[in-house]
Amino acid sequence: MNKQKIPYTKPSITEREVELVTDAARNGWGEKCYEYIHQFEKAFSKYTGAKYAIATSSCTGALHMGMAALNIGPDDEVILADTNWIATAAPITYLGAKPVFVDILPDTWCIDPERIEAAITSKTKAIIAVHLYGNLCEMDKLLEIGKKFNLPIIEDSAEALGSYYQNKHTGTLGEFGTFSFHGTKTMTTGEGGMLITNNDALYERLLTLSNHGRSRSQKKQFWPDEIGFKYKMSNIQAALGCAQIERLNELVDRKREIFFYYYEHLSKINGISMNPEQLGNKNSYWMPTIAFDNDTNITRSVLIDKFSSENIDARVFFWPLSSLSQFDTSNSNPLAYDIPERAINLPSYYDINREQQNRVIDVIRGLLINRTLLAKKVIE
Ligand SMILES: *Cc1c(COP(=O)(O)O)cnc(C)c1O
Repeated sequence: MNKQKIPYTKPSITEREVELVTDAARNGWGEKCYEYIHQFEKAFSKYTGAKYAIATSSCTGALHMGMAALNIGPDDEVILADTNWIATAAPITYLGAKPVFVDILPDTWCIDPERIEAAITSKTKAIIAVHLYGNLCEMDKLLEIGKKFNLPIIEDSAEALGSYYQNKHTGTLGEFGTFSFHGTKTMTTGEGGMLITNNDALYERLLTLSNHGRSRSQKKQFWPDEIGFKYKMSNIQAALGCAQIERLNELVDRKREIFFYYYEHLSKINGISMNPEQLGNKNSYWMPTIAFDNDTNITRSVLIDKFSSENIDARVFFWPLSSLSQFDTSNSNPLAYDIPERAINLPSYYDINREQQNRVIDVIRGLLINRTLLAKKVIE
């Protein structure tokens, strides 16, 4: 008998989302064609506490445009963690610059601040902090390094909507922050992104760049002053965003509830660690993740086999980007190579129920119990 499939993620869409998207499709044209976009940007600023927000077609686009606004270009270098989704690194290459990958911390799996200084060269133009799986980067240390070397800190907060570093929302601490509303993320607009900043000059620059290089002060019609970008969000997507952001506290609370149910049933078992939440921070737990200790001998292939045989769609931990041939593969990042060999993301969508979470918990417990018995047998 086949057990019902447990997907790892899917969005939560209510009648409210359908209502606003329908309204945008029916009425959001002509004079009203930007109405939901402006409303969504305003709501997003309010939620994060950022002075400015610009809605984009994706987080990748927001990063590309943001880094262009910081004048990052050919032969420059940008430092980021090796453990990451490629979407953070790809825009660096679009600008002709080079991503420089450094190792991660053992507990948060985010960039190791101690390793950044050694990676800084005369070509370094920025440091990107990626708050992985909702976990928080050590922003105080990163900002201090930024100050010392006069380098902007960019926060890719695609996975950390609802996460707070010492009472400040992610994305508001550095030069600018970016978010993703892809269907797998904490809130969705189908595809979509957001760039936030508190910097007046940078905002003005971004407004021009985001409008095909047409400045607000340019009175001539259809007159671009430079080459810009077209990474805009549509009004229909923004309507979906408006409905989702009304429910964002509920969506984040649910992520936390799902995480803590796993945590309650798994954290006391020897041999595993989960997403941490340091004192004073709030983790929005986009992806509840388990890392097995090395001595459990539980590897990625064991995990994939076991979860798929139980019809559970658990996802592998990010591969180190420096292991991909499209990037510079010379590195010395042992943790970024070691942790993905023994870690997995657990299903965490809004509608997952207790029975389904219990199935996930049982797989993990089963694996650990078998390993302990095996180890014992070897000793006897
Ligand atoms: C999802 C994600 C992105 C990309 O978001 P898109 O909206 O798909 O471009 C970028 N960075 C990180 C860390 C992500 O997880």
